[in-house]
Amino acid sequence: MFPDLVTSNDRVALRFGVDALTYRELAQLAAELADDLRGRTRVAVWATNTMDTCVAVVGALVAGVPVVPINPKVGERELTHIVTDSTPDLLLAAAGADLPDGLKALPQLTIPTRPGDRTVAPAADLSPETPAFVVYTSGTTGPPKGVVLPRRAVTSNLDALAEVWEWTGDDVLVHGLPLFHVHGLIVGVVGPLRRGGTLHHLGRFDSRKAGEELAGEATMMFGVPTMYHRLAQDCATDPALAKAIGGARLLVSGSAALPATDHERLAATTGQRVVERYGMTETLMNCSVRASGDRRPGAVGLPLPGVELRLVDDQGDELSARDGETVGEIEVKGDNLFLGYLNRPEATAAVLHDGWFRTGDMAVRDADGYVRIVGRRATDLIKSGGYKIGAGEIENALLDHPAVAEVAVTGEPDDDLGERIVAWVVPNGAPPDPAELADHVARLLAPHKRPRVVRYRESLPRNDMGKIVKRALND
Ligand code: ATP
Ligand code: MG
Repeated sequence: MFPDLVTSNDRVALRFGVDALTYRELAQLAAELADDLRGRTRVAVWATNTMDTCVAVVGALVAGVPVVPINPKVGERELTHIVTDSTPDLLLAAAGADLPDGLKALPQLTIPTRPGDRTVAPAADLSPETPAFVVYTSGTTGPPKGVVLPRRAVTSNLDALAEVWEWTGDDVLVHGLPLFHVHGLIVGVVGPLRRGGTLHHLGRFDSRKAGEELAGEATMMFGVPTMYHRLAQDCATDPALAKAIGGARLLVSGSAALPATDHERLAATTGQRVVERYGMTETLMNCSVRASGDRRPGAVGLPLPGVELRLVDDQGDELSARDGETVGEIEVKGDNLFLGYLNRPEATAAVLHDGWFRTGDMAVRDADGYVRIVGRRATDLIKSGGYKIGAGEIENALLDHPAVAEVAVTGEPDDDLGERIVAWVVPNGAPPDPAELADHVARLLAPHKRPRVVRYRESLPRNDMGKIVKRALND
Protein backbone atom coordinates (compact mmCIF):
# COMPACT_ATOMS: atom_id res chain seq x y z
CA MET A 1 0.00 0.00 0.00
CA PHE A 2 2.76 2.46 0.96
CA PRO A 3 6.11 1.67 -0.69
CA ASP A 4 7.86 4.64 0.97
CA LEU A 5 6.97 3.58 4.51
CA VAL A 6 9.26 0.65 3.87
CA THR A 7 12.16 2.75 2.59
CA SER A 8 11.39 5.27 5.34
CA ASN A 9 13.13 8.53 4.43
CA ASP A 10 13.19 11.95 6.09
CA ARG A 11 10.83 13.61 3.67
CA VAL A 12 7.70 15.14 5.21
CA ALA A 13 4.78 12.78 4.64
CA LEU A 14 2.01 14.72 6.36
CA ARG A 15 1.70 18.26 7.60
CA PHE A 16 -1.16 19.92 9.47
CA GLY A 17 -0.16 23.50 10.26
CA VAL A 18 3.08 23.33 12.27
CA ASP A 19 2.58 19.64 13.03
CA ALA A 20 4.53 17.41 10.63
CA LEU A 21 5.59 13.76 10.36
CA THR A 22 8.35 12.40 8.16
CA TYR A 23 8.06 9.04 6.43
CA ARG A 24 10.46 7.57 8.97
CA GLU A 25 8.32 8.80 11.90
CA LEU A 26 5.06 7.77 10.26
CA ALA A 27 6.43 4.29 9.52
CA GLN A 28 7.38 3.76 13.18
CA LEU A 29 4.08 5.16 14.49
CA ALA A 30 2.06 3.06 12.05
CA ALA A 31 4.03 -0.09 12.88
CA GLU A 32 3.44 0.41 16.62
CA LEU A 33 -0.24 1.09 16.14
CA ALA A 34 -0.59 -1.87 13.76
CA ASP A 35 0.96 -4.04 16.47
CA ASP A 36 -1.67 -2.80 18.93
CA LEU A 37 -4.45 -3.58 16.45
CA ARG A 38 -3.55 -7.24 15.96
CA GLY A 39 -6.60 -9.46 16.26
CA ARG A 40 -9.14 -6.69 15.75
CA THR A 41 -11.74 -7.25 13.05
CA ARG A 42 -12.85 -3.69 12.32
CA VAL A 43 -11.93 -0.33 13.84
CA ALA A 44 -13.88 2.89 13.86
CA VAL A 45 -11.83 6.08 13.50
CA TRP A 46 -13.14 9.36 14.87
CA ALA A 47 -12.19 11.19 11.70
CA THR A 48 -11.48 14.79 12.66
CA ASN A 49 -9.40 16.84 10.20
CA THR A 50 -6.19 16.14 12.09
CA MET A 51 -2.92 14.25 11.91
CA ASP A 52 -4.34 11.65 14.34
CA THR A 53 -6.88 10.50 11.78
CA CYS A 54 -4.16 9.93 9.17
CA VAL A 55 -1.97 8.01 11.64
CA ALA A 56 -4.91 5.83 12.69
CA VAL A 57 -5.80 5.02 9.11
CA VAL A 58 -2.22 4.26 8.05
CA GLY A 59 -1.73 2.04 11.13
CA ALA A 60 -4.92 0.10 10.40
CA LEU A 61 -3.98 -0.29 6.73
CA VAL A 62 -0.57 -1.64 7.75
CA ALA A 63 -2.28 -4.04 10.15
CA GLY A 64 -4.89 -5.06 7.57
CA VAL A 65 -7.78 -4.14 9.86
CA PRO A 66 -10.65 -2.46 7.98
CA VAL A 67 -11.34 1.15 8.94
CA VAL A 68 -14.75 2.72 9.42
CA PRO A 69 -14.19 6.49 9.29
CA ILE A 70 -16.74 8.44 11.34
CA ASN A 71 -17.77 11.98 10.56
CA PRO A 72 -17.25 13.94 13.80
CA LYS A 73 -20.24 16.14 12.95
CA VAL A 74 -22.51 13.14 12.54
CA GLY A 75 -25.94 13.38 14.15
CA GLU A 76 -27.06 10.99 16.87
CA ARG A 77 -29.35 8.93 14.67
CA GLU A 78 -26.82 8.49 11.88
CA LEU A 79 -24.09 7.60 14.37
CA THR A 80 -26.24 4.87 15.89
CA HIS A 81 -26.97 3.59 12.40
CA ILE A 82 -23.27 3.45 11.48
CA VAL A 83 -22.12 1.85 14.75
CA THR A 84 -24.82 -0.81 14.88
CA ASP A 85 -24.42 -1.54 11.17
CA SER A 86 -20.61 -1.77 11.10
CA THR A 87 -20.04 -3.27 14.61
CA PRO A 88 -16.45 -2.06 15.12
CA ASP A 89 -14.60 -3.75 18.00
CA LEU A 90 -12.47 -0.71 18.78
CA LEU A 91 -12.63 3.06 18.45
CA LEU A 92 -9.51 5.04 17.59
CA ALA A 93 -9.71 8.67 18.65
CA ALA A 94 -7.34 11.53 19.39
CA ALA A 95 -6.44 12.17 23.03
CA GLY A 96 -9.11 14.38 24.57
CA ALA A 97 -11.56 13.94 21.68
CA ASP A 98 -15.06 15.15 22.49
CA LEU A 99 -16.93 11.93 21.79
CA PRO A 100 -20.71 11.62 21.62
CA ASP A 101 -22.55 9.20 23.92
CA GLY A 102 -23.19 6.84 21.03
CA LEU A 103 -19.49 5.91 20.95
CA LYS A 104 -18.73 5.69 24.64
CA ALA A 105 -19.69 2.01 24.91
CA LEU A 106 -16.96 0.99 22.44
CA PRO A 107 -13.52 -0.01 23.69
CA GLN A 108 -11.17 2.86 22.91
CA LEU A 109 -7.56 3.37 22.01
CA THR A 110 -5.92 6.78 21.93
CA ILE A 111 -4.14 7.41 18.65
CA PRO A 112 -0.39 7.78 19.27
CA THR A 113 1.12 10.99 17.89
CA ARG A 114 4.85 10.56 18.50
CA PRO A 115 6.80 7.45 17.54
CA GLY A 116 8.38 5.38 20.31
CA ASP A 117 11.29 3.01 19.93
CA ARG A 118 9.44 -0.28 20.19
CA THR A 119 10.61 -3.03 17.87
CA VAL A 120 7.63 -4.59 16.19
CA ALA A 121 7.32 -7.58 13.91
CA PRO A 122 6.76 -6.60 10.28
CA ALA A 123 3.14 -6.67 9.14
CA ALA A 124 1.87 -9.78 7.40
CA ASP A 125 1.31 -9.84 3.65
CA LEU A 126 -2.32 -9.21 2.90
CA SER A 127 -4.50 -10.45 0.08
CA PRO A 128 -5.61 -7.71 -2.34
CA GLU A 129 -9.18 -8.77 -1.62
CA THR A 130 -8.88 -7.97 2.11
CA PRO A 131 -11.26 -5.15 3.03
CA ALA A 132 -9.36 -1.92 3.66
CA PHE A 133 -12.27 0.39 4.45
CA VAL A 134 -15.96 0.44 5.20
CA VAL A 135 -16.94 3.94 4.11
CA TYR A 136 -20.48 5.20 4.48
CA THR A 137 -21.95 6.98 1.46
CA SER A 138 -22.86 10.66 1.77
CA GLY A 139 -26.54 9.90 2.33
CA THR A 140 -27.55 12.27 -0.44
CA THR A 141 -30.32 9.99 -1.69
CA GLY A 142 -31.18 7.91 1.41
CA PRO A 143 -29.67 6.51 4.61
CA PRO A 144 -25.89 6.05 4.22
CA LYS A 145 -24.78 2.59 3.13
CA GLY A 146 -21.55 0.95 4.31
CA VAL A 147 -19.34 0.36 1.29
CA VAL A 148 -16.73 -2.38 1.71
CA LEU A 149 -13.62 -1.46 -0.26
CA PRO A 150 -10.87 -4.05 -0.82
CA ARG A 151 -7.20 -3.09 -0.88
CA ARG A 152 -7.10 -3.88 -4.59
CA ALA A 153 -9.65 -1.13 -5.33
CA VAL A 154 -7.61 1.43 -3.39
CA THR A 155 -4.23 0.59 -4.91
CA SER A 156 -5.41 0.15 -8.51
CA ASN A 157 -7.41 3.36 -8.39
CA LEU A 158 -4.61 5.46 -6.91
CA ASP A 159 -2.20 4.12 -9.54
CA ALA A 160 -4.64 4.92 -12.35
CA LEU A 161 -5.01 8.47 -11.00
CA ALA A 162 -1.23 8.81 -10.80
CA GLU A 163 -1.01 7.94 -14.47
CA VAL A 164 -3.61 10.44 -15.68
CA TRP A 165 -2.68 13.25 -13.29
CA GLU A 166 1.09 12.64 -13.79
CA TRP A 167 1.15 12.42 -10.02
CA THR A 168 4.54 11.57 -8.49
CA GLY A 169 6.45 11.60 -5.22
CA ASP A 170 7.61 15.11 -6.08
CA ASP A 171 4.08 16.45 -5.74
CA VAL A 172 2.98 18.32 -2.65
CA LEU A 173 -0.79 18.15 -2.34
CA VAL A 174 -2.87 20.68 -0.46
CA HIS A 175 -6.46 20.06 0.57
CA GLY A 176 -8.94 20.99 3.25
CA LEU A 177 -11.40 18.17 2.67
CA PRO A 178 -12.98 16.13 5.44
CA LEU A 179 -11.34 12.79 6.18
CA PHE A 180 -14.40 10.52 6.44
CA HIS A 181 -15.14 10.12 2.72
CA VAL A 182 -13.19 8.58 -0.11
CA HIS A 183 -12.34 11.95 -1.67
CA GLY A 184 -10.50 13.49 1.28
CA LEU A 185 -9.23 10.29 2.87
CA ILE A 186 -8.43 7.75 0.16
CA VAL A 187 -7.53 10.00 -2.77
CA GLY A 188 -6.38 12.87 -0.55
CA VAL A 189 -4.36 11.07 2.19
CA VAL A 190 -3.62 7.51 1.08
CA GLY A 191 -2.96 8.90 -2.43
CA PRO A 192 0.08 11.08 -1.68
CA LEU A 193 1.48 8.51 0.78
CA ARG A 194 1.33 5.78 -1.87
CA ARG A 195 3.29 8.04 -4.24
CA GLY A 196 5.84 8.96 -1.57
CA GLY A 197 4.83 12.61 -1.79
CA THR A 198 3.59 15.09 0.79
CA LEU A 199 0.15 16.18 1.99
CA HIS A 200 -0.37 19.61 3.52
CA HIS A 201 -3.81 19.61 5.10
CA LEU A 202 -5.42 22.97 5.76
CA GLY A 203 -7.57 21.78 8.66
CA ARG A 204 -10.42 23.50 6.95
CA PHE A 205 -10.50 25.08 3.54
CA ASP A 206 -9.61 28.73 3.28
CA SER A 207 -8.82 30.46 -0.05
CA ARG A 208 -6.00 32.55 1.34
CA LYS A 209 -4.28 29.59 3.05
CA ALA A 210 -4.67 27.48 -0.09
CA GLY A 211 -3.10 30.31 -2.10
CA GLU A 212 -0.15 30.57 0.30
CA GLU A 213 0.51 26.83 0.01
CA LEU A 214 0.30 26.92 -3.79
CA ALA A 215 2.57 29.96 -3.94
CA GLY A 216 5.02 27.93 -1.85
CA GLU A 217 5.77 24.21 -2.07
CA ALA A 218 2.37 22.81 -3.00
CA THR A 219 1.90 21.66 -6.60
CA MET A 220 -1.65 20.35 -6.62
CA MET A 221 -4.95 20.81 -4.83
CA PHE A 222 -8.10 18.71 -4.41
CA GLY A 223 -11.44 20.34 -3.68
CA VAL A 224 -15.20 20.17 -3.99
CA PRO A 225 -17.16 22.61 -6.17
CA THR A 226 -18.12 24.90 -3.26
CA MET A 227 -14.39 25.54 -2.66
CA TYR A 228 -13.75 26.41 -6.30
CA HIS A 229 -16.81 28.67 -6.24
CA ARG A 230 -15.29 30.56 -3.31
CA LEU A 231 -11.86 30.65 -4.96
CA ALA A 232 -13.36 32.04 -8.16
CA GLN A 233 -14.98 34.84 -6.14
CA ASP A 234 -11.85 35.57 -4.10
CA CYS A 235 -9.49 35.51 -7.10
CA ALA A 236 -11.60 38.19 -8.78
CA THR A 237 -10.57 40.69 -6.08
CA ASP A 238 -7.15 39.35 -5.01
CA PRO A 239 -4.47 39.38 -7.74
CA ALA A 240 -1.84 37.68 -5.52
CA LEU A 241 -4.24 34.80 -4.88
CA ALA A 242 -5.10 34.58 -8.58
CA LYS A 243 -1.39 34.37 -9.41
CA ALA A 244 -0.82 31.57 -6.86
CA ILE A 245 -3.77 29.58 -8.18
CA GLY A 246 -2.63 30.16 -11.74
CA GLY A 247 0.82 28.77 -10.92
CA ALA A 248 -0.40 25.42 -9.56
CA ARG A 249 0.42 22.28 -11.52
CA LEU A 250 -3.04 20.74 -11.12
CA LEU A 251 -6.33 21.63 -9.43
CA VAL A 252 -8.85 18.80 -9.22
CA SER A 253 -12.57 19.04 -8.47
CA GLY A 254 -14.95 16.24 -7.60
CA SER A 255 -17.76 14.89 -5.37
CA ALA A 256 -20.37 16.94 -7.22
CA ALA A 257 -20.63 18.74 -10.53
CA LEU A 258 -18.39 21.79 -10.92
CA PRO A 259 -20.63 24.47 -12.44
CA ALA A 260 -19.30 25.52 -15.84
CA THR A 261 -19.53 29.18 -14.76
CA ASP A 262 -17.13 28.61 -11.85
CA HIS A 263 -14.71 26.74 -14.13
CA GLU A 264 -14.78 29.64 -16.62
CA ARG A 265 -14.60 32.38 -13.99
CA LEU A 266 -11.57 30.80 -12.37
CA ALA A 267 -9.92 30.33 -15.76
CA ALA A 268 -10.55 33.97 -16.63
CA THR A 269 -8.91 35.36 -13.49
CA THR A 270 -6.10 32.81 -12.98
CA GLY A 271 -5.47 31.17 -16.36
CA GLN A 272 -5.94 27.83 -14.55
CA ARG A 273 -8.50 25.32 -15.80
CA VAL A 274 -9.69 22.94 -13.09
CA VAL A 275 -9.52 19.23 -13.92
CA GLU A 276 -12.78 17.49 -13.06
CA ARG A 277 -13.08 13.87 -12.04
CA TYR A 278 -16.09 11.69 -11.29
CA GLY A 279 -16.23 9.07 -8.61
CA MET A 280 -18.29 7.56 -5.86
CA THR A 281 -17.78 5.63 -2.65
CA GLU A 282 -18.64 2.30 -4.29
CA THR A 283 -16.22 2.66 -7.19
CA LEU A 284 -13.64 5.23 -6.09
CA MET A 285 -12.75 7.28 -9.17
CA ASN A 286 -14.19 6.35 -12.57
CA CYS A 287 -13.34 9.18 -14.93
CA SER A 288 -11.09 12.15 -15.09
CA VAL A 289 -9.80 14.76 -17.41
CA ARG A 290 -6.09 14.03 -18.01
CA ALA A 291 -3.47 16.52 -16.80
CA SER A 292 -2.42 16.83 -20.43
CA GLY A 293 -6.01 16.60 -21.77
CA ASP A 294 -8.60 19.09 -22.89
CA ARG A 295 -9.94 20.72 -19.69
CA ARG A 296 -13.47 21.25 -20.96
CA PRO A 297 -15.99 22.84 -18.57
CA GLY A 298 -18.87 20.58 -17.55
CA ALA A 299 -17.07 17.36 -18.50
CA VAL A 300 -15.43 14.68 -16.35
CA GLY A 301 -13.17 13.42 -19.13
CA LEU A 302 -12.48 9.80 -20.01
CA PRO A 303 -12.71 6.53 -18.06
CA LEU A 304 -9.54 5.90 -16.05
CA PRO A 305 -7.09 3.22 -17.21
CA GLY A 306 -8.51 -0.14 -16.10
CA VAL A 307 -12.06 1.19 -15.76
CA GLU A 308 -14.61 0.13 -18.36
CA LEU A 309 -17.55 2.49 -18.72
CA ARG A 310 -20.75 2.31 -20.73
CA LEU A 311 -24.07 4.15 -20.93
CA VAL A 312 -27.24 2.06 -20.95
CA ASP A 313 -30.91 2.80 -21.62
CA ASP A 314 -33.88 1.90 -19.39
CA GLN A 315 -33.77 -1.70 -20.66
CA GLY A 316 -30.07 -2.01 -19.81
CA ASP A 317 -29.02 -1.99 -23.47
CA GLU A 318 -25.80 -0.21 -24.28
CA LEU A 319 -26.08 3.15 -26.02
CA SER A 320 -23.44 3.73 -28.63
CA ALA A 321 -24.31 7.36 -29.46
CA ARG A 322 -21.52 9.88 -28.88
CA ASP A 323 -23.55 12.92 -29.79
CA GLY A 324 -23.45 14.84 -26.51
CA GLU A 325 -27.26 14.46 -26.38
CA THR A 326 -28.34 10.86 -25.74
CA VAL A 327 -28.74 10.35 -21.99
CA GLY A 328 -28.01 6.97 -20.42
CA GLU A 329 -27.13 5.52 -17.04
CA ILE A 330 -23.42 5.05 -16.34
CA GLU A 331 -22.27 1.51 -15.63
CA VAL A 332 -18.68 0.74 -14.73
CA LYS A 333 -16.50 -2.36 -14.37
CA GLY A 334 -12.96 -2.77 -13.11
CA ASP A 335 -10.64 -3.38 -10.19
CA ASN A 336 -11.86 -0.13 -8.65
CA LEU A 337 -15.19 -1.68 -7.60
CA PHE A 338 -16.25 -2.35 -4.01
CA LEU A 339 -17.01 -5.82 -2.62
CA GLY A 340 -20.59 -4.95 -1.67
CA TYR A 341 -22.69 -3.01 0.82
CA LEU A 342 -22.18 -4.19 4.38
CA ASN A 343 -25.18 -6.24 5.60
CA ARG A 344 -27.19 -5.41 2.46
CA PRO A 345 -27.02 -8.33 0.04
CA GLU A 346 -30.19 -7.18 -1.70
CA ALA A 347 -28.96 -3.63 -2.21
CA THR A 348 -25.68 -5.08 -3.49
CA ALA A 349 -27.41 -7.46 -5.90
CA ALA A 350 -29.54 -4.59 -7.18
CA VAL A 351 -26.50 -2.63 -8.39
CA LEU A 352 -24.08 -5.37 -9.50
CA HIS A 353 -24.65 -7.62 -12.50
CA ASP A 354 -22.06 -9.53 -14.58
CA GLY A 355 -19.29 -7.50 -13.01
CA TRP A 356 -20.94 -4.19 -13.98
CA PHE A 357 -21.95 -1.64 -11.34
CA ARG A 358 -25.02 0.52 -11.94
CA THR A 359 -24.04 3.95 -10.69
CA GLY A 360 -27.46 5.63 -10.72
CA ASP A 361 -25.79 8.58 -12.47
CA MET A 362 -26.93 9.74 -15.89
CA ALA A 363 -24.59 11.07 -18.54
CA VAL A 364 -24.02 11.81 -22.20
CA ARG A 365 -20.81 11.27 -24.18
CA ASP A 366 -19.18 13.66 -26.58
CA ALA A 367 -17.79 12.55 -29.95
CA ASP A 368 -14.32 12.01 -28.45
CA GLY A 369 -15.68 9.90 -25.58
CA TYR A 370 -15.66 12.63 -22.92
CA VAL A 371 -18.33 11.96 -20.31
CA ARG A 372 -20.69 14.69 -19.14
CA ILE A 373 -22.74 13.92 -16.04
CA VAL A 374 -26.29 15.25 -16.27
CA GLY A 375 -27.43 14.14 -12.83
CA ARG A 376 -28.74 11.22 -10.81
CA ARG A 377 -31.42 8.88 -12.13
CA ALA A 378 -33.42 9.15 -8.90
CA THR A 379 -33.52 12.92 -8.40
CA ASP A 380 -32.10 14.68 -11.44
CA LEU A 381 -33.79 13.09 -14.41
CA ILE A 382 -36.95 15.00 -15.16
CA LYS A 383 -39.50 13.45 -17.52
CA SER A 384 -41.44 16.41 -18.85
CA GLY A 385 -43.62 16.68 -21.96
CA GLY A 386 -42.19 13.46 -23.38
CA TYR A 387 -38.59 14.60 -22.94
CA LYS A 388 -35.94 13.28 -20.57
CA ILE A 389 -34.18 16.31 -19.16
CA GLY A 390 -31.12 16.35 -16.90
CA ALA A 391 -31.34 18.80 -14.00
CA GLY A 392 -27.60 19.54 -14.21
CA GLU A 393 -27.82 21.21 -17.59
CA ILE A 394 -30.57 23.55 -16.40
CA GLU A 395 -28.66 24.30 -13.18
CA ASN A 396 -25.61 25.28 -15.23
CA ALA A 397 -27.72 27.55 -17.43
CA LEU A 398 -29.33 29.25 -14.43
CA LEU A 399 -25.96 29.78 -12.72
CA ASP A 400 -24.97 31.65 -15.86
CA HIS A 401 -27.56 34.33 -14.99
CA PRO A 402 -26.04 37.14 -12.87
CA ALA A 403 -28.98 37.18 -10.43
CA VAL A 404 -28.52 33.50 -9.50
CA ALA A 405 -26.10 32.64 -6.68
CA GLU A 406 -27.06 29.00 -6.06
CA VAL A 407 -29.60 26.72 -7.62
CA ALA A 408 -31.11 23.24 -7.51
CA VAL A 409 -33.49 21.96 -10.17
CA THR A 410 -36.04 19.24 -9.49
CA GLY A 411 -39.14 17.76 -11.11
CA GLU A 412 -42.55 17.58 -9.52
CA PRO A 413 -45.76 15.92 -10.68
CA ASP A 414 -47.75 17.85 -13.28
CA ASP A 415 -51.09 16.86 -14.83
CA ASP A 416 -50.16 18.04 -18.31
CA LEU A 417 -46.45 17.44 -18.55
CA GLY A 418 -45.96 14.38 -16.36
CA GLU A 419 -43.40 16.38 -14.44
CA ARG A 420 -42.72 20.09 -14.40
CA ILE A 421 -39.32 21.67 -13.94
CA VAL A 422 -38.86 23.51 -10.64
CA ALA A 423 -35.89 25.79 -9.92
CA TRP A 424 -34.94 26.46 -6.28
CA VAL A 425 -32.88 29.62 -6.41
CA VAL A 426 -30.75 31.53 -3.93
CA PRO A 427 -30.72 34.98 -5.55
CA ASN A 428 -27.79 37.36 -5.78
CA GLY A 429 -29.50 40.41 -4.29
CA ALA A 430 -33.07 41.18 -5.37
CA PRO A 431 -34.89 38.14 -6.80
CA PRO A 432 -35.53 38.59 -10.54
CA ASP A 433 -38.86 38.01 -12.23
CA PRO A 434 -39.23 34.19 -12.62
CA ALA A 435 -40.15 34.71 -16.28
CA GLU A 436 -36.76 36.27 -16.88
CA LEU A 437 -34.99 33.17 -15.56
CA ALA A 438 -37.28 30.87 -17.57
CA ASP A 439 -36.58 32.84 -20.77
CA HIS A 440 -32.86 32.77 -20.04
CA VAL A 441 -32.92 28.95 -19.89
CA ALA A 442 -35.12 28.70 -23.00
CA ARG A 443 -32.69 30.93 -24.88
CA LEU A 444 -29.54 29.05 -23.78
CA LEU A 445 -30.92 25.51 -24.01
CA ALA A 446 -34.38 24.85 -25.47
CA PRO A 447 -37.93 26.04 -24.75
CA HIS A 448 -38.99 22.72 -23.16
CA LYS A 449 -36.16 23.06 -20.62
CA ARG A 450 -37.53 26.29 -19.09
CA PRO A 451 -38.42 26.06 -15.40
CA ARG A 452 -42.19 26.30 -14.91
CA VAL A 453 -41.86 27.24 -11.26
CA VAL A 454 -39.13 29.29 -9.55
CA ARG A 455 -38.89 29.22 -5.75
CA TYR A 456 -36.58 31.63 -3.98
CA ARG A 457 -34.71 30.50 -0.88
CA GLU A 458 -32.10 32.03 1.42
CA SER A 459 -29.98 28.89 1.27
CA LEU A 460 -30.11 25.32 -0.01
CA PRO A 461 -29.85 22.23 2.21
CA ARG A 462 -26.32 20.77 1.92
CA ASN A 463 -24.56 17.83 3.55
CA ASP A 464 -21.06 17.87 5.05
CA MET A 465 -19.47 17.46 1.62
CA GLY A 466 -21.27 20.61 0.47
CA LYS A 467 -23.61 18.58 -1.74
CA ILE A 468 -27.15 19.80 -2.20
CA VAL A 469 -29.57 17.34 -0.59
CA LYS A 470 -32.52 17.53 -2.97
CA ARG A 471 -34.77 15.31 -0.89
CA ALA A 472 -34.63 17.96 1.85
CA LEU A 473 -36.00 20.65 -0.47
CA ASN A 474 -39.64 21.28 0.24
CA ASP A 475 -42.18 23.99 0.34
P1 ATP B 1 -25.78 8.30 -1.27
O1 ATP B 1 -25.22 7.21 -2.14
O2 ATP B 1 -25.77 7.94 0.17
O3 ATP B 1 -27.06 8.86 -1.73
P2 ATP B 1 -23.78 10.00 -2.50
O4 ATP B 1 -24.10 9.25 -3.76
O5 ATP B 1 -23.77 11.50 -2.59
O6 ATP B 1 -24.75 9.56 -1.33
P3 ATP B 1 -20.96 9.56 -2.60
O7 ATP B 1 -20.56 8.17 -2.92
O8 ATP B 1 -20.10 10.35 -1.68
O9 ATP B 1 -22.37 9.55 -1.96
O10 ATP B 1 -21.06 10.44 -3.91
C1 ATP B 1 -21.04 9.89 -5.22
C2 ATP B 1 -21.93 10.69 -6.14
O11 ATP B 1 -21.47 12.04 -6.25
C3 ATP B 1 -21.91 10.16 -7.55
O12 ATP B 1 -22.77 9.06 -7.71
C4 ATP B 1 -22.36 11.39 -8.34
O13 ATP B 1 -23.77 11.51 -8.33
C5 ATP B 1 -21.76 12.54 -7.56
N1 ATP B 1 -20.52 13.04 -8.19
C6 ATP B 1 -19.23 12.79 -7.86
N2 ATP B 1 -18.37 13.44 -8.67
C7 ATP B 1 -19.13 14.14 -9.55
C8 ATP B 1 -18.86 15.03 -10.64
N3 ATP B 1 -17.61 15.36 -10.98
N4 ATP B 1 -19.91 15.54 -11.31
C9 ATP B 1 -21.18 15.23 -10.97
N5 ATP B 1 -21.51 14.42 -9.96
C10 ATP B 1 -20.50 13.88 -9.25
MG1 MG C 1 -24.52 7.22 -4.05
